[in-house]
Amino acid sequence: MDAESWTGDKNHKHVLGQTREVILPDGRHVIMLELYRHAVNLEDERPAEVDVIGPLLGEMPVQCDVEGCNFVGIWRLGHDAMREMLARRAKRNDAARIHEAKLADLSQRDL
Ligand SMILES: [Zn+2]
Repeated sequence: MDAESWTGDKNHKHVLGQTREVILPDGRHVIMLELYRHAVNLEDERPAEVDVIGPLLGEMPVQCDVEGCNFVGIWRLGHDAMREMLARRAKRNDAARIHEAKLADLSQRDL
C-alpha cells in the first residue's frame, strides 16, 4: 500500500500528511491520513524531518504551519467509510422518525 502526499488542495504546495489505504478486518477499504506534525515545504532544499502524529479518520480541518501560509485543508474520510457512516446516519434518522411518529400518535390520543 503506497503512501501518497496530501496537501489538502491541488493549489496548495505544502504537504500536510500522507494518505494510506488500509483494509479493515472486515474487508472494507478506507483511506486514512497520517498527519505530519509540521507541514513539509517541498520548495525547501532540506525538507524538515517528517514527524507523523497519527492517523486521522473522519473529517477535520488541518492547518498548514509553514510561515506565511494560512491554508486550511479539510480532510475527509475515505469513500467506503463515508458510505457506511451515511448509511448508519440514515438508519438513525429512520429510528428517530419512527419515534416521533409514535409520540405524535400518543399526543393525538391524549387529545
Ligand atoms: Zn501551506
